[in-house]
Amino acid sequence: MSQAGMLYVVATPIGNMGDISARAREILAGAGVVAAEDTRHSAQLLRELGLKRPLLSLHEHNERARAVELVQRMRGGENVALISDAGTPLVSDPGYQLLRAALAAGIVVSPVPGPCAAIAALSAAGLASDRFGFEGFLPARATARRRRLAELAAEPRTLVFYEAPHRLAASLADLAQACGATRRACVARELTKRHESFYRGSLAELAELAGRDPDLARGESVIVVEGAGPAPAGAGRLDEMLGVLLHYLPPSAAAAAASKLAGVRRNEAYARALELAAARPGDSA
Ligand code: SAM
Repeated sequence: MSQAGMLYVVATPIGNMGDISARAREILAGAGVVAAEDTRHSAQLLRELGLKRPLLSLHEHNERARAVELVQRMRGGENVALISDAGTPLVSDPGYQLLRAALAAGIVVSPVPGPCAAIAALSAAGLASDRFGFEGFLPARATARRRRLAELAAEPRTLVFYEAPHRLAASLADLAQACGATRRACVARELTKRHESFYRGSLAELAELAGRDPDLARGESVIVVEGAGPAPAGAGRLDEMLGVLLHYLPPSAAAAAASKLAGVRRNEAYARALELAAARPGDSA
C-alpha cells in the first residue's frame, strides 16, 4: 500500500499578500489538492502566488461529505492543504469535521501557522494579553447575544470577539451595557490593509462612536475587551448576579436566588430586580 498523504492546515493572509509565509507557499505548491472555503476566492490567491493546484470546495454545508472524499485521497497518498478565505482555518472557519475525520483515519495533521485576525488584534490592542479568551462571533440575535454577554461580564481575562460590520454598533452597545460603560476596549479594523485602524477607549465611547461614525463599521473588525476587575463583595455583587439571572428567571425568582447568593435582604433584591428588568432594552435583531 502506498504511504498515506498528510493534511496541512495552512494560514493565509487576512488582507496583505506580504503575510503569506514561505512555508505556506511551499506546502500549497506541493499539495495534491487544496481544500478551500470559496474556490473562486482561493483561485485568486493561488494565481497571485503563481501556483496552479486543483481546488475543492469545503464549506459548512458540504464539509462532512467532503471530509470522506478527502480522507480517501490522503489514504491514497495525496497531500491535502486546507485553507479558508482568510487567516487560519478552523478559527471561526470550516475545517473541524475534516480534521476529526483525518485524525480518526490515522492521517498526520500538520499546521502551517500564519495570519489570524484575533491574534493580530490582540497583539496591538494595548490590553492585557497574558491570558485571553477567544469568543468568535457573538450570537446574531439580540436576546441570545445579551444572554451570552451576561455570562461573560465577570470574565477576568481579556476577551476577543469577531463581528460583522452591520452588527458592530449593536454589539458594542450591548457590551457596554453588560460589562459596564467604563470597561476599556479596542476595535481593530481592516488589519494589515490600507485602512488599518485601531479605536481604543471605554466601551461607552466606542459604542457612541460606532453609532455616529460610519467609518467604524466599514470593513472587517475584531473587538478586544479588557477583563473584569475583581468581583465586588456582598451587596455590590447583586447587580451582577441579577444581570445573569434575569435572563433565565422572572424578577421574583431571580431576586430569591440572588438574595441568597449575595447575602442581601430579599425585599432589596426584588426591588433591584424590578428596576433592572424595567431598564432592560427591548429585543431587536
Ligand atoms: N479564520 C479567520 C482568522 O484566522 O482570523 C477568521 C475568519 S471569520 C469568518 C471573519 C472575521 O474575522 C471577520 O468578521 C472579522 O471579525 C475578522 N477579520 C478577518 N479579517 C480581518 C481584518 N483584516 N481586520 C479585522 N478583522 C478581520
